[in-house]
Amino acid sequence: MPKQIPHPMEVKMDYNCWYECIRGCGKRYSIFDVVYRCEECGGLLEVKHNLNALRQRSAAEWKSVFEQRVFSTAWPYGSGVWGKKEWVCPLVDDEQIVSTYEGNSNLFWAQRFGKQLGMDDLWIKLCGNSHTGSFKDLGMTVLVSVVKQMIANRKPIRAIACASTGDTSAALAAYGAAAGIPTVILLPRAKVSTAQLIQPIANGATVLSLDTDFDGCMAIVKQLTEDPTIYLANSLNSLRIEGQKTVGIEIIQQFDWQVPDWIILPAGNLGNVRALGNGLMMMLDLGLIDHLPRIACAQAENANPLYRAYLSNFQVFEPVKAKKTVASAIQIGNPVSYERARQTLIDFNGIVEQASEEEIANTSAQADQTGLYCCPHTGVALTALKKLLQKGIIDPHARVVVISTAHGLKFSQFKVDYHHQQLEGVQAQYANPPLEIPATYEAVQSALMKLV
Ligand SMILES: *Cc1c(COP(=O)(O)O)cnc(C)c1O
Ligand SMILES: [Zn+2]
Repeated sequence: MPKQIPHPMEVKMDYNCWYECIRGCGKRYSIFDVVYRCEECGGLLEVKHNLNALRQRSAAEWKSVFEQRVFSTAWPYGSGVWGKKEWVCPLVDDEQIVSTYEGNSNLFWAQRFGKQLGMDDLWIKLCGNSHTGSFKDLGMTVLVSVVKQMIANRKPIRAIACASTGDTSAALAAYGAAAGIPTVILLPRAKVSTAQLIQPIANGATVLSLDTDFDGCMAIVKQLTEDPTIYLANSLNSLRIEGQKTVGIEIIQQFDWQVPDWIILPAGNLGNVRALGNGLMMMLDLGLIDHLPRIACAQAENANPLYRAYLSNFQVFEPVKAKKTVASAIQIGNPVSYERARQTLIDFNGIVEQASEEEIANTSAQADQTGLYCCPHTGVALTALKKLLQKGIIDPHARVVVISTAHGLKFSQFKVDYHHQQLEGVQAQYANPPLEIPATYEAVQSALMKLV
């Protein structure tokens, strides 16, 4: 049993949050209602907070509270997400929280890789250094905790379900298993990595492998969750966004409350860019920062509906049929959160860039040779960085943070294929295959001669 220290923040304030329709029709719902879209107008919902209650603490006080909680053992405040509980989800009892102490992931100063690009202030936020190996843990802890609270309040919920490109399902299965809540996972057959497939299997989820793509799985899970006893865990559900929004707050906290110039992230279903924007906007509203960074979204050329919309100045949005990409977690043609992301990009003077398969693979490998171990999605974001430097949009002396969304270890086959020149359509510039030589001292000796 973790320590239950009464926390100074437990003094009863009127912290509160609720769902509100983002189309401004004013409709509100409880976060304990099973509702994913506005019942009046069909708009997406978003969690809103009582900012006046939060304003009863000054910006300096919040900073100090957040700093004190990092890695604390006072349950659950040592988590990077729950250390900001009042800003994220004040309505769940501490005993109902399902946490793996997610968040507080390290910032990697990419000194050598940055130097290769002519930069001196490049940082990689390693969100893949997390319980299930991706940033999806940040949102899933909130969603599963709210469901656990609902079940404690005798709401009839039988299971939590999601469609996934591999990381949402891993997170849902792990948090569901930790809470003892059954989970149902819909995966596109042969479109997720072996590691991603085996994660929910190991955690005891019901795993359904469907002969379709992510968008096909999403359509079915929406139907499935029309039954209110099966709760939907996709990022259409804005509870995920509440947890994920801590990433930007955490980055700024790690820079001693200094705002970086740019934050770049790979984008697929577009929940995470909205989450990043919402966290930063809340910091601005509550006075913890006095300006916003710029945001750049990076997409794979093979699944680029946001990039296309950006080229039209966000006047036109058309779903695309996503083609195969090594960045499988963002192989999405019809992003659920487009409407949310569009507004965030406008608010943050944001831009969108895209990356080809060859660029993704080679940039990932180049970065690996400077000590990183990039998943392909991080390769998409790093490629976007290169292009924006070349175009003069990002200044080489700017402080830039690239969000690395998953751990490279989930994508071993991508790396194996790359280093054996077996990645379709890719000329592997940085291939470094093992040398197969006889087991003799002389053979080893002569192989090493080539080193110098
Ligand atoms: C989910 C995911 C993304 C995309 O995030 P969205 O919120 O869908 O835009 C990017 N990279 C990885 C590794 C992911 O798992
Ligand atoms: Zn509405």
